[in-house]
Parts: sequence; C-alpha cells; structure tokens
Amino acid sequence: MEDKIKLFMDEVKTRNGHEPEFIQAVQEVAETVIPYIAKHKIYNGKNILLRMVEPERLISFRVAWVDDKGDIHVNRGYRIQMNSAIGPYKGGLRFHPSVNASILKFLAFEQVFKNSLTTLPMGGGKGGSDFDPKGKSDDEVMRFCHAFMLELNRHIGPNTDVPAGDIGVGAREIGFLFGMYKKIRNEFTGVLTGKGRSWGGSLIRPEATGYGTVYFANSMLQTQGKDFKGKTVTISGSGNVAQFAAEKVLHLGGKVLTLSDSQGYIYDKEGIDEEKLAFVMDLKNNKRGRISEYTEVYTSATFHKGVNPWEVKCDVALPCATQNELDGEDAKTLIKNGCICVAEGANMPSTPEAIHEFHQAKILFAPGKASNAGGVATSGLEMSQNSLRISWSREEVDSRLKDIMSDIHDSCIAYGKEDDGYCNYVKGANIAGFVKVADAMLAQGVI
Ligand code: NDP
Repeated sequence: MEDKIKLFMDEVKTRNGHEPEFIQAVQEVAETVIPYIAKHKIYNGKNILLRMVEPERLISFRVAWVDDKGDIHVNRGYRIQMNSAIGPYKGGLRFHPSVNASILKFLAFEQVFKNSLTTLPMGGGKGGSDFDPKGKSDDEVMRFCHAFMLELNRHIGPNTDVPAGDIGVGAREIGFLFGMYKKIRNEFTGVLTGKGRSWGGSLIRPEATGYGTVYFANSMLQTQGKDFKGKTVTISGSGNVAQFAAEKVLHLGGKVLTLSDSQGYIYDKEGIDEEKLAFVMDLKNNKRGRISEYTEVYTSATFHKGVNPWEVKCDVALPCATQNELDGEDAKTLIKNGCICVAEGANMPSTPEAIHEFHQAKILFAPGKASNAGGVATSGLEMSQNSLRISWSREEVDSRLKDIMSDIHDSCIAYGKEDDGYCNYVKGANIAGFVKVADAMLAQGVI
C-alpha cells in the first residue's frame, strides 16, 4: 500500500512541485483514501483521485486599483474551480498577502471534501488575492473589491460558482463585491454568501463556522461522556471563526483562556467572558485594532508577543487562525498538559507532525474539513433561502446547523472508527467526503 501512495504522490509532486501546502493537503487525503480505493473495486482503474487533484479550472487575473493618494496598485486575483461533480463550485475568497496558487489549491481541494460532508449539493472552489486589507481605508477596500469583481463576475453565478468570505473577507468586503456584481449583471441573485441580513443574507451565517466547530467538538466529547461544562479552552485567532467559537464555548459553560492574532496571544487567567468578548468583537470588527490592546483594558490578562497559545494548559484547543499554526512540538505540549480534544476551526492549522502526535496519544482530534464545515453548510442554507425567496428564523437555521454537524460527526465515526474503538476523524472525514464525490464522477463519465 505504501508503494501505491508513494507512486501517486510522486506524480502529484512532479506536477505541483512548487506548491507545498497543496501537496500537504493531498498527502493527508491520499494516505487514507488510497487504501479505501484499493478495497473497493468500483474505483479501481478509474484514476479517480488523480482527476480530483487537478482543478477543473484555475483562473488568475490582474486587479488594478487606485489608492486614496491617487497611486496605482496591481494585485493578483484568483478563482480555483476545483470540482463540480455534486453541485456548483462553492468556497470562500481570501484577501491576505500570503495568498498564492498553492494556498488556494489546498483550500479548494479541502473544500471539495468538506462540502461533500455537509450533505448539501455543493462542489468545491476557492479564490482570493494577495491584497492586504489591513491598514487600508474603507474607500480603498471598496475600490479594490470593485476592481476584483470586474473580472470575477464573468466566472461566477448562482448556478455556476458561489464565493463567500474567508481570511480578510468579511461582511464589508462581501457588500462591496455583491454591489459590483449586481451593477454589472443587472441581477439580484444569491451569487455570494455571507450577505447582509437586509439584502439576502442568512441569520446565523456569521456565527456558523465558530458555532459549528464547537458543536462538533461537543459531539466528540460526548463520545467519552463529557461536555464543555467547566472545561478550559484555548483558542487561536480573533477573527470571525475565533470570535464565535469563543461565544459558543461560553454558552456551553466552558472557560475561554486565550485569543490571538498574527502578533501574539492574550492569556486571561480569569477567562474571557461575554463582556470581554464583546470588547474583542468591537476592537477587531469595528476599530480594526490589535489583540494586544485587550491587556490595556483587562489587567487580568497578559500579552505574549510572537508566539501562539498552545503553551497554555487547557482541556480543549481550538485552532481558529490559519494553516500550519500548530506543529509537532505544540502538539506534544498540549498532550503533556492534559489536553483531551483538538477541533480545527481554521483550515489545516495542524501540521502532519502534530496530527501524528494526536493520533499516537489517541486524544480526540478533528480536521477542519469536518469540524469547520458549519460555515459552508450555512452558506448552503443561505443559497436555499435565496432560491426559495424566504428567510428562516435564527432558531431554524441554528437547528439545521446543529443537525448537519451531528450528521458529519456520524459520518466520521462510520468511516473512521478503528478496531480498538478509537475514532480517526481524519480518515473518517476523508473517506466519507470522497465517496459521494467519486460516485458522482463515476456516474458522469470521464470529463
Ligand atoms: P479572519 O480574517 O476573520 O481572522 C483571521 C484571524 O487569524 C485573525 O485573528 C488573524 O490575525 C489571524 N491570522 C491570520 N493569519 C495569521 C498568521 N499567519 N499567523 C497568526 N495569526 C494569523 O478570518 P476567519 O476567522 O474567517 O478565518 C480563520 C480560519 O478559518 C482560516 O483558516 C479560514 O480558512 C478558516 N475558515 C473560515 C470560514 C469562515 O466562514 N470565515 C469557514 C471555514 C474555515 P491578524 O488580524 O493579525 O491577521
């Protein structure tokens, strides 16, 4: 079996040698899915995984825009349309200076499996730009978003490709992008998700990724007869996913000890309660400040510059910032300190070495493609509401989100439970996600 995986990965590396994040994401899937393919004759000889690792379409384009001083800037825009076997391409847009084809291909590849796991009819895609919204005025962000959509509009549509937010793309950016799409196409459609409430957005969409991650972690804890009540929780990031993960942990009776941003983390030994979290939301979403400013207001907290929060003792860890933010050494520290559960809110935040440590120690570990799927699932619910031209209540969307997260958890158990009873959620998520897409691809023939 190892030979088969190596042969496959050699081909992937030859074609994508300069794309380390993409190779990392494919390797994780190959290690679990290739043995499954070998045992299931219908997939043999169909080169199905090789077809899945090649994007159906990769669009790269120039985005030229003018700043407040009148200077002209050029950024690079992308949309990766990875797989449409089970529905229109669906996946976020990321605006961050680190964005390149490798990062977007890894995200688009993960998205295919994640969307399949939600049980909703959505293919996988991802896009974005190396534009950095940090430090830009609202007008500059608007001009950039308009310029970006001037090109992107011709590649997307409610039945073709429906982008959403991701790092650096929140409610403000979705508004500017949607406005330009509507202007160019002269149509009001559900072409983007994460829209504002008064113009087609869904209740619970802003909360969904963070809430869903905690619902999933709670299901994991329940397999051991435990829950969040009284548990200490470390969270990285302080953006959309981290904020609402923290909120749901508080709802379920847990104690949030940390939040972070790219400059470092804050540790509040007394816990980040609802009032303190409201301060963080205002600081990050409205004032666009830095997490270190928390310690100027709350003296129970300390700021730790240039490091991540995994050195803080906790029961549950929720990495909610970015890829590869938790490495093998961090994993060893978490395990040594008694952590029993790690659920990824971000995409691929744990390195392969970290995942290996979690599996060796047999602690509960959920990969982002399963645990953070609540965001895209609720985007799917936003698409349904747009198509039906109705708006569901907060309770209705939240209850559907809970059901979807519980179904994803069941799928992971169905495909990931090992002989000794331990659930390998990575294996479970990869195989469950693969089967639905692969079956659709087989039915549709070689295209
Ligand atoms: P936001 O832009 O709202 O927040 C990102 C947070 O992560 C910020 O606190 C940011 O700090 C921090 N961060 C970004 N890059 C780094 C870095 N290199 N090192 C340390 N910290 C960093 O993004 P989201 O919360 O939306 O996304 C977070 C993660 O969740 C991403 O991996 C994303 O792909 C994933 N995700 C998001 C979904 C969504 O619905 N939004 C859905 C599913 C997954 P700073 O402000 O300093 O940059």
